[in-house]
Amino acid sequence: MEYNSDNVFAKILRGEIETNKIYEDDYAISFYDIAPKAKVHALVISKAMVVDFEDFIEHSTASEIAGYMRAIVRTAEKLNLIEDGYRLVFNSGKNSGQEVPHLHAHILGGEDLSTHNI
Ligand code: AMP
Repeated sequence: MEYNSDNVFAKILRGEIETNKIYEDDYAISFYDIAPKAKVHALVISKAMVVDFEDFIEHSTASEIAGYMRAIVRTAEKLNLIEDGYRLVFNSGKNSGQEVPHLHAHILGGEDLSTHNI
């Protein structure tokens, strides 16, 4: 799928939509999900204009991939999720139910998710 910069996360990156920001670096911006599915639910969006996980991996350098992955961990640290743990979800493509066509990781935590069907 071609990247389309009309999506809501591209607007957040351009500063056109406000978010409750948690963390930002050269590779990613993190903020709270507007419709949380766990006590703590954050999104880590890439600064790279890529649609999904496959697009990101195929069109990024090793250091860009590492930088984005590290930003996920930095966000989990800021949210104090390291000790008790968290769940990472990448919806990618139609069958996953991905709604926003811009790479993002969901970080879910703050409670026991072992019985959650997410
Ligand atoms: P996905 O289904 O993986 O594409 O997830 C998209 C997520 O973005 C959903 O969990 C939405 O609740 C969330 N979302 C959509 N718009 C916003 C927004 N403006 N701020 C924060 N989260 C958003």
